[in-house]
Amino acid sequence: MEEWTAARVHTVLESLLTASPRLALPQAIIRQLLTDTRSIQKAAHTLFFAIPGKHYDGHRFIAEAYEKGVRHFVVQKEWHHDFPDVNVWQVKNTVEALQALAAAHRSRFHIPVVGITGSNGKTIVKEWLFMLLAQEYSIVRSPKSFNSQIGVPLSVWQMRPYHQLALFEAGISQSGEMERLERIIRPTVGILTNIGAAHDSGFPNRTTKLQEKLKLFTHARCLIYPSKLKELYPEAWEQLPAHVYHLSWGTHPSAVMQYKVLEEHKEGVRLAVRYQAQSFHLHLPFIDEASIENALSAVAFMLYMDYHPEVIAARVQRLRPLSMRMEVKQGVRHNVLIDDSYSNDVESLHVALSVLQHQAQERRKVVVLSDMLETGLPHSVLYHRIAEMLEAAGVYTLIGVGENICLHRSFFSAIPEVHCFPSTSTLLESGLLDRLHHSHILIKGARKFAFEQLVRHLEQHLHRTLLEVNLDTLMHNYHCVRRRLHPATKIMVMVKAFGYGSGIEEVARMLSFLRADYLAVAYTDEGVRLREQGITLPIMVMNPEADAFEALIEHRLEPELYNHRVLSSFQTLVEMRGESAYPVHIKIDTGMRRLGFEQNEWKALAQHLAQQQHLKVESVFTHLAAADEPAHDSFTRHQLQLFEEACLYFREALHYPFLRHALNSAGILRFPEAQYDMVRLGIALYGIDPSQLLQEELALAVRLSTNIAQIKHIQAGESVGYGRRFMAEKPMHIATINIGYADGFRRALSNGRGVVYVHGKAVPVVGNVCMDMCMIDVSEVPEAKEGDRVIIFENVEQLKELSQRLGTIPYEILTGIGSRVKRVFYTDA
Ligand SMILES: *Cc1c(COP(=O)(O)O)cnc(C)c1O
Repeated sequence: MEEWTAARVHTVLESLLTASPRLALPQAIIRQLLTDTRSIQKAAHTLFFAIPGKHYDGHRFIAEAYEKGVRHFVVQKEWHHDFPDVNVWQVKNTVEALQALAAAHRSRFHIPVVGITGSNGKTIVKEWLFMLLAQEYSIVRSPKSFNSQIGVPLSVWQMRPYHQLALFEAGISQSGEMERLERIIRPTVGILTNIGAAHDSGFPNRTTKLQEKLKLFTHARCLIYPSKLKELYPEAWEQLPAHVYHLSWGTHPSAVMQYKVLEEHKEGVRLAVRYQAQSFHLHLPFIDEASIENALSAVAFMLYMDYHPEVIAARVQRLRPLSMRMEVKQGVRHNVLIDDSYSNDVESLHVALSVLQHQAQERRKVVVLSDMLETGLPHSVLYHRIAEMLEAAGVYTLIGVGENICLHRSFFSAIPEVHCFPSTSTLLESGLLDRLHHSHILIKGARKFAFEQLVRHLEQHLHRTLLEVNLDTLMHNYHCVRRRLHPATKIMVMVKAFGYGSGIEEVARMLSFLRADYLAVAYTDEGVRLREQGITLPIMVMNPEADAFEALIEHRLEPELYNHRVLSSFQTLVEMRGESAYPVHIKIDTGMRRLGFEQNEWKALAQHLAQQQHLKVESVFTHLAAADEPAHDSFTRHQLQLFEEACLYFREALHYPFLRHALNSAGILRFPEAQYDMVRLGIALYGIDPSQLLQEELALAVRLSTNIAQIKHIQAGESVGYGRRFMAEKPMHIATINIGYADGFRRALSNGRGVVYVHGKAVPVVGNVCMDMCMIDVSEVPEAKEGDRVIIFENVEQLKELSQRLGTIPYEILTGIGSRVKRVFYTDA
């Protein structure tokens, strides 16, 4: 099959053009389609679609993409760059153009293509089919849950001549979308998992929603679905063309594949299945209905593909629930581990490498990779592709484990450092792992290689008390706030106080990835630490200390200047170093009465700054004292008015633009009209909304937990802990847990004031909280045992409850978590 050239792409896009194209490189080969410049690989062969998206307008990143080597662009806004050596197609709608190209690509293949849709279970059914069929077929499938108007074309574009089967998900949220996805996927077989409440609001009723979903199957030869859907929504099915073979499954005799539950036990169910002339038994290792139904969709597909019932029975028995959680862990010797034991195939490697790239940025990237099993690809194709991906991700060191990867070592000649070991134990014995330091290490291996041993070896021994930080939730919260802002408003994210207790570097790295505009820290050393970790975003330092000015300048950190003392000593130093136009931020006091220039100083200050060249005012800002309290709204408005007055002095005196900002999290939500040029986002990033307006959309991004060290049975009349503050009135079960006031679990929580959660039940603290431990009453939780996890808080309600019991605010709880509490970062990738 010939590759796509720019000229061939042109034949597809020609009819969509709104301006004449530029075709400086008609013979260039196009291999990758890209909508997000953060994941550029193989830039020269990449076609970039500038899409005005929910969060960002892709057109803003054209110059960046060009700089990284991209030469082919599809845009929908006017092209105003003067790059000589580019191909540019300007179309009405870049998403449509992307879809048209993917559809043209799809039409070149004549293999079975499975389209999977439904309200839930799409990803699971797709992943299970992949596991069940990979022995016989070389399979291409949607990465993760790429099932949207953009995700589907990108998935379909991955089809290559050696693929024998394709599995694509399609998800819709409103009418009209499915027809477009159908044209791109053109499934030959359909799987409809179920219809539930998801996206109900986009449709007048469930029948309409089902009808919309069925549009995916207009050209399919066969459709697999739960037979109950036909009984529930009979009218929806009338539109389905007569040529579609209905493979319905269910317990009702009218189902084409009929099943019956024979037996349920702790680990699973036994079913009797009848399909055409065959009857057989299956054991499914699940007890929940959703998993059983998803497995039945997969079984029906295998029957349709003529798999023998014995093979089906043997394989479905090995299905496991999917855990897609990719963990980011602190390793020994300043390493960071990305532990991805979820699966081991080409697509998931691709996903894991992009996580590695985002996390590691400039740090050294190491990949420990085992042989890839059951991919269905010939080894030469497989290892060639893996080598390309590693190279594109900028991997410095590859540690291969397994005979095949050793055999194909020569494929990795472009990777600077390659080590191969026949087995996991030979790698461990070699001592190589003990020499890794200051690196980001992706660990990804097929289950049989037992890479958990490597993770254990490299991981810092986990303290029993953990603060887990969900990077996806942070991202979600960030976008929730971003959506409320005017698109041009910049965001400065406050990562002071160790990132509100959650860990400063990881959060900062994620914010760079999200393209936050600015970071702010409290002290210079925090900023220095971020620079040392490769964070290049502009960083404001709120309390710059005079003795750290040198370090501040060396690391291009930007000070907040809040009075004449700080201003003149900083200005003197800048002068002495012979620098000019050094960026600084001017803090105006409008009523907080904390830091900042006073009203009577503003005018003279502005004139002074205008008359010197050493400092450049990057921004002028103020801080609101009570943005979260409606009772003080008139005070807040007064603050804003004073702030505008101050800005006017600067505008008049300075002959260059500067940023103005006033809003913290509460202000962002309650005074959107006062966004000015930038806002300063703090606690809302972690999921707490002081204004309560957006609380339902935000989720708590951190979870504090510990575990049970010991359980004791005590008798009536016995006392518990220091000072014998608690006296048992009846026999009780008491658990000692590994958290105390040195971890931030305050002593004021003693004897019933504090509550923690064991197996989902709230249980009280008994006796005094000790330095490293405390005791809780687990009499009502008979299943509690030693080693069990105990939750201190994992959602907003629990955190607020804890703050109330201590008479404080969530800010203080989060920032008071002891530094010895291990921070663990993870992403659901
Ligand atoms: C901490 C801080 C913020 C952020 O406050 P939140 O209430 O956490 O959003 C904004 N501006 C300044 C000056 C701060 O010190």
